[in-house]
Amino acid sequence: MANYQVLLYYQYVPIEDPKEFAKEHLEFCRSLNLKGRILVGDEGINGTLSGLVEDTEKYIEAMHQDERFKEMLFKIDAAEEHAFKKMHVRARKEIVSLNLEDDLNPLDLTGQYLSPKEFKEAIVDENTIVIDARNDYEYDLGHFRGSVRPDIRSFRELPQWMIDNKEKFMDKRVVTYCTGGIRCEKFSGWLVREGFKDVGQLHGGIATYSRDPEVRGDLWDGMMYVFDERISVPINHVEHVVVAKDFFDGEPCERYVNCANPFCNKQIFASEENEDKYLRGCSEECRCHEKNRYVSEHNLTKDEWQARLEVLGESL
Ligand SMILES: [Zn+2]
Repeated sequence: MANYQVLLYYQYVPIEDPKEFAKEHLEFCRSLNLKGRILVGDEGINGTLSGLVEDTEKYIEAMHQDERFKEMLFKIDAAEEHAFKKMHVRARKEIVSLNLEDDLNPLDLTGQYLSPKEFKEAIVDENTIVIDARNDYEYDLGHFRGSVRPDIRSFRELPQWMIDNKEKFMDKRVVTYCTGGIRCEKFSGWLVREGFKDVGQLHGGIATYSRDPEVRGDLWDGMMYVFDERISVPINHVEHVVVAKDFFDGEPCERYVNCANPFCNKQIFASEENEDKYLRGCSEECRCHEKNRYVSEHNLTKDEWQARLEVLGESL
């Protein structure tokens, strides 16, 4: 039963005294029993929330009554329960962290907004480079067909990666995309400032592209990584192609697990079968680690543990 909704939204708009705003906004969210994460800064607001349908609707209504947020676009997913454990509202210098030495406001400079339909045309245009503005582990779970995967672990590494690869893209049309659109607002503005001539961005992000009645997520492969307890959500309603691969045998697999060594905790794809076989450890060291969570969850004795490792040619 989908009695809940997950909201994803942002607005670049001047906010005075973000600290005070955050304090009051937290109280407001709590009064509606919402859970999630919201960042507030001088430059705007960036949030994701879950709650009962009626409570999230009240939130949207209240925000739209505020002059600053009256145009704010909410990406809404149906859900069966909360997607977060707690409610946080934090004041930050940037609402999305690109760590530019010389910061940039998308209200002053940003790439051309592309509708889902225009973006789909860009994907199949061979003179256009489509750059995924997210992190490598997000790309590995799912991405637009033929898009470029920057080799980065965090958004703030993206400008340097672009500078290092500039010759490849400089003379082409460059379009970018991200989950909800907020990262591209700043990133595409930065590309324009760096001298890229023809820069576009998917307006509303992958989340909007998925809901568009005309494109219906077409040309997206895999699932979309989300930063809440759901971990992944479907995007393409035309066809489903699996692109993620099992960490252990390379077979198609979209099942995310965390390495059972709590000091590693690496996120990997693994089938249930391989999770059992490899004691959910990403390396021999993690499989043999004295704090291995798989071993404690399954109450394995030391002999049972040792016997499982021997099959792999390993030992405690
Ligand atoms: Zn590990």
